[in-house]
Amino acid sequence: MAGGQGALMSYDENNVFAKIIRGELPCHKVYEDDKTFAFMDIMPRAHGHTLVIPKDQASDIFDVSPQTLFDTVGTVQRIAPAIRDAMEADGILIQQFNGTAAGQTVFHVHFHIIPRFEGVTLKPHAGDMGDPDVLAVNAEKIRAAIDAA
Ligand code: AMP
Repeated sequence: MAGGQGALMSYDENNVFAKIIRGELPCHKVYEDDKTFAFMDIMPRAHGHTLVIPKDQASDIFDVSPQTLFDTVGTVQRIAPAIRDAMEADGILIQQFNGTAAGQTVFHVHFHIIPRFEGVTLKPHAGDMGDPDVLAVNAEKIRAAIDAA
């Protein structure tokens, strides 16, 4: 439902997450099913920072269908425990931004799953690029924990 009523931005089929879903851009994938896709955030705010997106085209919370949102949150709930365990996190922060004013930078609706560690401050949102080797290691740990669940 691209460009649905109320969307803050009309859906751009060439946004970076649409390209990742189509396999046109690389990513560190941790999970995929027929409705959703999850991969490492390339600018992680903490170790294990993961993004969950629907395969459906929707730019934000105002654009996404209830069923697609349900499927996406279902994947968030399904993989969050594996991320917590794989990263040995003390807590898990779930974030979801809508519109530039709210901090959204990629206009394909998504959830951030961010492991939190006692005494460790979050890095800035969409700040520095993560080390690709560290992203790969963390993705492998998370995939193993998802597979074992
Ligand atoms: P938001 O600001 O909520 O729209 O979040 C977009 C997120 O996507 C940011 O945390 C970025 O670090 C992340 N991001 C941008 N490009 C990529 C990419 N190619 N692969 C993985 N994550 C990305």
